[in-house]
Amino acid sequence: MEFSLTEDQIQLQTTAREFAQKEMTEVAKEIEHTGNPLSDEWFKKYAEMGFIGINVDEKYGGLGLSNLDALLVLEEFAKVSSAVAWPIFESCVGPTKAIEHFANEELKKKVLPEVCKGNLFIAVSMSEPNAGSALTDLVTSAKIESDKVILNGSKRWCSGAGHAHGYVIYCRMSEEPGAKGIGAVYVEKDTPGLSFGKQEELMGFRGIASADIFLDNVEVPLENIVVDSNGGFKKLMEAFDLERCGNATMSLGQASGALEQVLEYVQEREQFGKPIIDFQAVQMKLAEMAMKVEASRLLIHRAAHNAGEGLPSIFESSVGKCFSNEMSREVTGMAVQIMGGYGYNKEYQMERRLRDAWGWGIAGGTIDIQKINIASSMVGRRFNQRN
Ligand SMILES: Cc1cc2nc3c(=O)[nH]c(=O)nc-3n(C[C@H](O)[C@H](O)[C@H](O)COP(=O)(O)OP(=O)(O)OC[C@H]3O[C@@H](n4cnc5c(N)ncnc54)[C@H](O)[C@@H]3O)c2cc1C
Repeated sequence: MEFSLTEDQIQLQTTAREFAQKEMTEVAKEIEHTGNPLSDEWFKKYAEMGFIGINVDEKYGGLGLSNLDALLVLEEFAKVSSAVAWPIFESCVGPTKAIEHFANEELKKKVLPEVCKGNLFIAVSMSEPNAGSALTDLVTSAKIESDKVILNGSKRWCSGAGHAHGYVIYCRMSEEPGAKGIGAVYVEKDTPGLSFGKQEELMGFRGIASADIFLDNVEVPLENIVVDSNGGFKKLMEAFDLERCGNATMSLGQASGALEQVLEYVQEREQFGKPIIDFQAVQMKLAEMAMKVEASRLLIHRAAHNAGEGLPSIFESSVGKCFSNEMSREVTGMAVQIMGGYGYNKEYQMERRLRDAWGWGIAGGTIDIQKINIASSMVGRRFNQRN
């Protein structure tokens, strides 16, 4: 067992931390104020700096580093805000990796180099009005007709919708019910028949677009099939095990960023004539926060490390996500409390961390659904939720 990072990893982490703290702190505040996503210029800048597609194979323009390396960078950006970390999430653990692992070579060559150059931003669209936790109830259809795929249906809650240039859309590709009929198709934003609903106003996630997607006889070429219904859903869920580690890291970043911020605050803020860190109740809270943050980081890194060059296990990724989602809500809540009125004031950005922390425990499968995954892995069988 090895618990320390390599010199290269420490250097990568330091570069990411310095860039994120110095360049993105003010940008994050601005995004929180306007609600506008990160601009295309920043995407390009991230790509130039090597923060996009960190773990994408070099032959597709990525850096070819490990999943763990990507998560180290992601945490540093997530400490600043979810919105500024979003392009790293999507390109390193999100739909880009599903394409890299499972799509045909033509689609990979078309999409991945553009993502890694910062020219193309991809979102994933799974949920539907009647298919949230019960994802396998989704009804959006993709029918193959000669040399095209034709999609019809409507999707919900897609993060990045309306902003992203491309979408990996989960859809029903055969008559088989449940998981067996599900595949995924890549659709470009400007394809005729694709449209978006109004931008949602969420509790957090400011600067990460969210909207419904409507598909009305949307036609794409066959090579846009990411996975077909023949075992496709299983593959999508395997790729999702990595996305879970990314979601967990976003949660971790809210908490570790909160901890760093509050650690400075308690040494500066004085009451009763001394810094508030001198009060034992504050010390206890800080220690509890640190224990939770450290435990979350270890669980995430274990899942990523044990996966090697492959994808993490459902058990380890679900344990990491579930623990980190719950931990993040607790730790950011404690940080708000320790900062008193300043914690509750938007100006100081702490309440944003709490609002975002809450969202990560719903996005990517709720906390309770992760617990079902964990128990299911423990006994080695799936639990039927329907009867
Ligand atoms: C911030 C945010 C970002 C998101 N981004 C995306 C995205 O990019 N792409 C995308 O496709 N979707 C996205 N989603 C949607 C997300 O995946 C769903 O919201 C989530 O899976 C839950 O589905 P639901 O909202 O329909 O809740 P429901 O499934 O209706 O669940 C409601 C409650 O019931 C509980 N519940 C449901 N079934 C069970 C069960 N069998 N056992 C125990 N409890 C159960 C849940 O845990 C939850 O607490 C996002 C959501 C949020 C909040």
